[in-house]
Parts: sequence; C-alpha cells; structure tokens
Amino acid sequence: MIKINENFDKLQSSYLFSEIARRVREYQATEPPRRIIRLGIGDVTEPLPPACIAAMHRAVDEMASSATFRGYGPEQGYDFLREAIARHDYQSRGADIAADEIFVSDGAKCDTANIQELFARNIRIAIPDPVYPVYVDTNVMAGRTGAARNGRYGGLVYLAGTARNGFVPAPPKRQVDLVYLCYPNNPTGATATREQLAEWVAYARASKALILFDAAYEAFIRDPALPRSIYEIEGAREVAIEFRSFSKTAGFTGTRCAFTVVPKNCMGYTAAGEPRQLHALWNRRHTTKFNGVAYPVQRAAEAVYSPEGQQQVRALTDFYLGNAAIIRKTMKQLRMPVTGGENSPYIWVRTRDDSWSFFDRLLKEAQVVTTPGAGFGRCGEGYIRISAFNSRENVEEAMARLRELA
Ligand SMILES: *Cc1c(COP(=O)(O)O)cnc(C)c1O
Repeated sequence: MIKINENFDKLQSSYLFSEIARRVREYQATEPPRRIIRLGIGDVTEPLPPACIAAMHRAVDEMASSATFRGYGPEQGYDFLREAIARHDYQSRGADIAADEIFVSDGAKCDTANIQELFARNIRIAIPDPVYPVYVDTNVMAGRTGAARNGRYGGLVYLAGTARNGFVPAPPKRQVDLVYLCYPNNPTGATATREQLAEWVAYARASKALILFDAAYEAFIRDPALPRSIYEIEGAREVAIEFRSFSKTAGFTGTRCAFTVVPKNCMGYTAAGEPRQLHALWNRRHTTKFNGVAYPVQRAAEAVYSPEGQQQVRALTDFYLGNAAIIRKTMKQLRMPVTGGENSPYIWVRTRDDSWSFFDRLLKEAQVVTTPGAGFGRCGEGYIRISAFNSRENVEEAMARLRELA
C-alpha cells in the first residue's frame, strides 16, 4: 500500500486566491453593471524590457546552429550571469558577495520552499504574520508544524505585524533557529530600516540562528537610506541567505529566473554543534535536483544589467510605483490608513469592516477586486492589499470608482 505524507492533511484548504476567484466568478455570473478591474493579483502586466527581448532572440539564434548550440549548462547558472549579479547587485553597494555564492534558479518561490531541505525537522521557526503563504505551507508539508487551530499551526512562532510596529516585527524574546523576513514586504508593502535589520542580524548571531531574507521587491526601493540587501548589514554573511527574483524586477513572472545567495561562511550546525557550510549543502542539493535555467532566459536576465537594461527596468518599476502613488493618494483622500506603496508595489489598507466584507463590498459596489488581508494571516484581518500591477488606465478607473463609493 502506498502511504501518503499525512502532513498534507494539515494544510488549510481554503487557499486565498482560489476563494477570491470563486467569489469573482459567482459575481460575474450575475452580469455586473461594469467590467471588473483586478487589483488583487501579485503578477506583473507590462511586457519584458526590450534589452531582455533582444538578448533572448540572440540566444535562441545561437541554439539554432551547431557551432553555438548549448546543452546542459552549469546547474548553478552561467558565470556571465552570476558575475553580473555579484557586481551590480552586491559589490557596487558595498556588500561583499562573490559570483560563486550565487545560485541561479527558476524562481524564488521554489527556492524559499526548497531551502528547508537543509535543516533538521525539529527546529523552531519564526514566521511573520501577515506573510507570503509559501513559507508556512512548505513547512507544514515537511512536517515541521502541528495541526492548524484557528488559522495558526502548532509549533510555529508567529511574529505579529501590526500598525504599532509598522508591520516590521522585532526579534522575539524566545530563541528560534530559523526566521523568514521579506522586505519590501508582500503583502504589507512595509520596508525595514538598516537599524531594524541590524537588530535581526545581532539576534541571529547571538543564537546561531539563520535568517531567510526574501528581497523579491528590492527593485522598488527608492529611499536611498533603505538597505536593498541583508548583506548591507555588517555581520549578515554568517547568518543570512538571501532570495531574489527577476519576476517583479523585470517582468519575468512568466519567463522564470531568480537566484539565491548563500555566503561561504554562513553556517548550520550538526546535533553535536559542529559547524557545516550551508553553501556546500545547498550546492549539493541544487546540483542533484536541478539542471539549470534555460540559456536564452539567463541571457535575458544578464541583459537586465546592461546600461539599457538598467534604464528600462527602472522605467518599468517607476511605472508601477506611479500606480502605487495614485492608489495611496486616493486612500488618503478617503481617510483610510495606508502602509506601503512608496518603496513597494503593494498598498496595505486598513478597512472599516472585516477583510472579506470589505472585499465583497468593493467587488459588488465598485467592481474592483482586491486581496483580503485575512488571507495572509490572523494579523491581516481588518486590512486589504491593493496591487499596483496593472495599466494606468485601470488603476485610474478603479480609484475613480472608489471615490464615488465613499
Ligand atoms: C512574487 C514573489 C516572489 C517571486 O517568486 P518567483 O517564483 O521568483 O516568481 C518571491 N517572494 C515573494 C514574497 C513574492 O511575492
């Protein structure tokens, strides 16, 4: 008899985005008076930058000729891309990261999920609330939690993100072994200052804990005082792994390219307390289970770092930040408290009713789809997330409808 991994039975079934889709579908069937505008999804809408398109075309042509054809590449990614990443994203900002500490992959979602294969099952894990659901669900699947009760899993340490702490929880009093941090944050759009990250780094160093830092939205940071990488913090190399992606930076959600940084002096420990290089473990895991990102896609990612690519990516993120500014302004006019949207494509809005009631009201009275904050965790109750990933026209129309409604 083939037995299943019963940890899957613990997963809460009402997955946020399928519930949203169900409600929108049911409402659509009632023939709404106006077209529905979707400001709910965390997916980009604008096409790839021209520099990436041109690089991908050239790479496809190389694959068409036996003289330039390429088969399997290095699992960790081609040197041309790893070197461009190390130079532009890290060394130019004073973060001491070498090309061979970068592992190119097909997504930050799978990397943040797969990294936990390196850790023991009985570690104590701290997870922010609200949170990107992948961090929690993958730990449930791996058997690192108890059953769910009132929307929270036994065994996890939840770090409450609230208006009082600006949605940037401080390190807990109790000792944890692993912590997930994401700044700029999805869903709240909050950013962490250098001092706040330094507190986390000090905490991790003092307790030999590890920080998993998800920087998928770093390209949206405009405030020069905000750190873009955890490695801009002194001492972080020993205690942090960083995840980045070209998905939101350069519109690669459907093209797929990301990377994980594992510094060579970042350590994990055996039960006996002996240190082990996490770089060596991840290298072993990655080369055993992954066969590399498509060559044309890596060439497209490399083009992000060309002078034209940099300009185009900046214009792309500026465009979404322009949408975010329009959304923020409207919420302020409506006297609804907001976080995010200045260094992030997400705007986190305090609602007057509970999350799902407010979601239903915006759907049925304004024909605008948002994301109920409660879907990201207990602390998200009473909030909605509005995404700036859409056309200018749609954002302006949606905001005009919300102003009408007020
Ligand atoms: C979109 C997103 C990612 C990127 O995922 P990919 O798999 O690289 O597309 C990672 N983390 C968060 C929090 C995200 O919202």
